[in-house]
Amino acid sequence: MKYISTRGNAPAKTFTEILLGGLAPDGGLYLPEQYPQVTRAELDAWRKLSYAELAYAVLSKFATDIPAADLKAIVSKTYTTAVYSYGRADSDFSQITPLRTLEPGVHILELSNGPTLAFKDMAMQLLGNLFEYALDKQHAELNILGATSGDTGSAAEYAMRGKRGIRVFMLSPHGKMSSFQRAQMYSLQDPNIYNIAITGMFDDAQDMVKAVSNDHSFKAKYKIGTVNSINWARVSAQVVYYFKGYFAATKSNDEQVAFAVPSGNFGNICAGHIARMMGLPIGQLILATNENDVLDEFFRTGVYRPRDTKHTYETSSPSMDISKASNFERFVFDLVGRDGAKVREFWSKVDVASSSDTAAFNIKGTSYWDALPKFGFASGKSTHQDRLKTIRELWEEYGVMVDTHTADGIKVGLAQRRPNLPLICLETALPAKFAETIQEALGREPERPAALQGIEKLPQRCELMDADVAKLKSFISANVPN
Ligand SMILES: *Cc1c(COP(=O)(O)O)cnc(C)c1O
Repeated sequence: MKYISTRGNAPAKTFTEILLGGLAPDGGLYLPEQYPQVTRAELDAWRKLSYAELAYAVLSKFATDIPAADLKAIVSKTYTTAVYSYGRADSDFSQITPLRTLEPGVHILELSNGPTLAFKDMAMQLLGNLFEYALDKQHAELNILGATSGDTGSAAEYAMRGKRGIRVFMLSPHGKMSSFQRAQMYSLQDPNIYNIAITGMFDDAQDMVKAVSNDHSFKAKYKIGTVNSINWARVSAQVVYYFKGYFAATKSNDEQVAFAVPSGNFGNICAGHIARMMGLPIGQLILATNENDVLDEFFRTGVYRPRDTKHTYETSSPSMDISKASNFERFVFDLVGRDGAKVREFWSKVDVASSSDTAAFNIKGTSYWDALPKFGFASGKSTHQDRLKTIRELWEEYGVMVDTHTADGIKVGLAQRRPNLPLICLETALPAKFAETIQEALGREPERPAALQGIEKLPQRCELMDADVAKLKSFISANVPN
């Protein structure tokens, strides 16, 4: 299996060649040359597999240059009950992604039982083990540099802690995260994890990371890398739970289902699109946004109008506060019939458009608009009031507490689903992460998984730093043997 760029101007690469990198050299994103197809016989056999076995079956179609025994060992060490058992006391952790049925035909797929209580652990934990494996083979090292306002950074740290050949330098805005988020990250005592609290805002931290990454000689000398959401291995790991959720919600492979997906960077739902292209019987992929509704506008009207950070609202589902979805280009490549030149033409306008209120492109009235329905997407948006209402309704009707992001997905999923299609709503975080909004909706605190009770009292390890790029560089060089 080779991977090609969505912009059509980069050499084809293997899975391990793109594993540690980011964008293709032409600025595009990598996708398989062709989507592997799953036969009916395979689907029938896969239905009986455990999560780790299924992950191996799916990923071996993508990571064709990793020897079978090695890939098997990597997935079996990743998808264990020990790693994914932070959820509700009554969850069936042996399933890794248990399906919770609210009523016949309406389900929640629990993807947030990993150590940081969000679905990002599903892919990030695999990435940690893949990185360690690949670096070991190449006798190489990698220093991951990132900025976080909470979620992605902690998922990366919990995936990379203790891994050979890897260090993580994670910047976070000093005093801006919740005490729970701080405790989650700063209580890690692993010597390869460096938390750096910046006296400034998230954007300042982000700018420092960009400045260091743009210093190409520093970046090369200190082997600086990232773990952002365009990483192909992350997307492919997410394909697995669409299969698992489908098997859990159906009795036979003749049935179709709908998935509802709370979306930000389009990484999660992109994996659903790929599962569908591989032949999984998905009738509908329902995309939910919050007030940052750029993607909903596209699927409803054909107009793609990205926005910059200044025009992105802060909402109570903060992990979806994104107005330029990095993985969206992967879907558009398929939509335009895999025409890299067309993608280049569209994306030449994206950065210009996002700083104004103009559309980057509009497919209404073109053959692409006519092609859109065959990809099965529906979309809708959910506001703060919708979240509160959905959280209350689920609590009152089913005694199930969901977080704000999952609530966005459920609200839009119920509104957009075609009758008769079983609906599987992806749970992207646990309510314990968003206690303030749960308090507002229900007048009570969310339950916290037993393993995380009292983590605020653990000793914390963190470097306080001014928003100064020179200081960051000297901190890195002092901690990376050269
Ligand atoms: C990252 C995240 C999302 C958005 O997922 P994308 O893959 O970026 O679309 C939704 N909910 C939660 C809780 C997240 O952490």
